[in-house]
Amino acid sequence: MITLLSVGSENKNYDLECDYGGNKEMNQYVTGAVIRKLREKNNITQLQLAERLRVSDKTISKWETGKGYPDITLLEPIAKTFSVSVTELISGDIVFNSNVSANMMKSNFYICPVCGNVLHSMGEVVAYCHGVLLRPEEEEETDENHKIFVERVEDEYYVRIEHEMTKEHYISFIAATSSDKIQMVKLYPEGEAQAWLKMDGVKKIFFYCNRSGLFSITPMNGIDDKESGYDDVEKRRELEKIAKMLFD
Ligand SMILES: [Zn+2]
Ligand SMILES: [Zn+2]
Repeated sequence: MITLLSVGSENKNYDLECDYGGNKEMNQYVTGAVIRKLREKNNITQLQLAERLRVSDKTISKWETGKGYPDITLLEPIAKTFSVSVTELISGDIVFNSNVSANMMKSNFYICPVCGNVLHSMGEVVAYCHGVLLRPEEEEETDENHKIFVERVEDEYYVRIEHEMTKEHYISFIAATSSDKIQMVKLYPEGEAQAWLKMDGVKKIFFYCNRSGLFSITPMNGIDDKESGYDDVEKRRELEKIAKMLFD
């Protein structure tokens, strides 16, 4: 299953195809191998590069291991750091080493670094947007710069992220996945970093920072798990009533 959320771009020239084993020629975006090579050549540590770009060193590590792409707004600062042009940065390597099958049957998010399009896939997919082979984003645990607050209001989660919402640095979506559903709320710079999500079976809540990548939390371990039998809102309300009688 693929969910496409087109965001922030009129130029929707994404192009999706299932992988039947055939590789395909593609345009290059900056690859992790190039970033690593340039970084090592310039004797800059991951941490130093991270500080210059105001991202975490984990983010740099993700780029270098092909688990995410730097947002397009970071290309110029990266090129500047290494004293190369953006074109040199992008054309620097033609290494293609996709490991798509490893991610089969996992819930994956793909984000186009050029236009910000978001793809969600629950199976194997090879997706290109703007000529870039999209890679599944690896999610991080939330950190002190990306704090999420989840509040239960009746049968919904009110989700708020403490984060700036400028054009340069913002949260571009909040999503929630259950075993068979996805909810996705698109956010925009200058807007609020918040969303209302139906609680129904939600196992994980995700949000995406255009600089630092994908973050996730598990809102309520166990309670929203279908297998445990407490998935049903009505059932949960009954349990709450009983709990109230017992403890009030
Ligand atoms: Zn794109
Ligand atoms: Zn951020």
